[in-house]
Amino acid sequence: MLKLTFPGPEFNVSFHNHSDMSDGAAPIELMCRTAKAAGLREFGMSDHWVIPDDDAIDPSSWRMIPGRLDEYVEKLLALKKELDCETFTLRLGLEVDFFFGNSTDVVKNLEKYPFDYLIGSVHYSDRFPVDHSINDWIGLSQEEIAQICEGYWKKLEGAASSGLYTFIGHLDLPKKFGMVNNALYYPHAIRVLDEVQKTGGAIELNTAGWFKECNEQYPCCDLLKEALERKIPVVVNADAHHQDHVMRNFAESAKVLAEAGFPVR
Ligand SMILES: [Zn+2]
Ligand SMILES: [Zn+2]
Repeated sequence: MLKLTFPGPEFNVSFHNHSDMSDGAAPIELMCRTAKAAGLREFGMSDHWVIPDDDAIDPSSWRMIPGRLDEYVEKLLALKKELDCETFTLRLGLEVDFFFGNSTDVVKNLEKYPFDYLIGSVHYSDRFPVDHSINDWIGLSQEEIAQICEGYWKKLEGAASSGLYTFIGHLDLPKKFGMVNNALYYPHAIRVLDEVQKTGGAIELNTAGWFKECNEQYPCCDLLKEALERKIPVVVNADAHHQDHVMRNFAESAKVLAEAGFPVR
C-alpha cells in the first residue's frame, strides 16, 4: 500500500476517479488514457466499493457490482502493463464506504488484491444517503439535519480511527447541497483530523465540490489549515466521473492550499 507523506499536495497525481464500473460515465480505459495524455505522473482509479452492514441500505444504483471486482482489477493490471513508463504510473484503488458493523472484514477481504491505496469514505449517515440528491434534504427539520450531520461525523471519525484507509475522502461532504451550516460541525471535523493524525493517515482536497451547490472544494480552507497544523498529508483529487474532469480545478486547488499555508510547489 502507498503511504502518503506530508505535505503531500502535488498537482500531477490524481487518485480519486470513477469509471462506468460504478457511477462514472466513461470506461476505465478512456479514463486512464486521458489521464496519461493530460500529463499526470500518477493516476488511480477508485470505483465505489460499498458493502453495507444494514440490509435496508441499497447502493446498487451507484456502486460496483461486487461480482465484478476481479474484472476491475484485471482491467487495471492490463492497462498498467500497457501504460506504465518512466513518466507515468497507473495506480489501483477503491473508494470504500466505512460501516461500523463490517469494515475490518470488508478491507480484509480486499487484501488478496494488489491495491495501491484505499479511500475511506462515508456516504450514508445511518440509512440516509448524504450526497445522493438535494431532494433527500429538502423538507428536513433542523433537528433532522443535525442528527444526520452528527451521524455522518461520528462515522467518519470511526473510519479515521480504524486506520484501514490510505486517505479519507471528501471530508466535509454534508455541505454538498448547501443545506448545512458546515461551521456548526467544526469540532466534529477536528476530532476526525485528530484521528487521522494519530493513525498516520491522510486526507484529500477534492475539487468536485466546486461544481455542486456548496461551490467550494472539500474540505473548506479552515479545515485545510487544521490539517496543516497536524502535518496531515493532503492529496489533490478531482473525483472525476468523466474523462474530461481528471484534473478539474487543480489550478484553483493550488491557490487554496497556498492560502491555507501549505508549501505549494
Ligand atoms: Zn465519494
Ligand atoms: Zn468518489
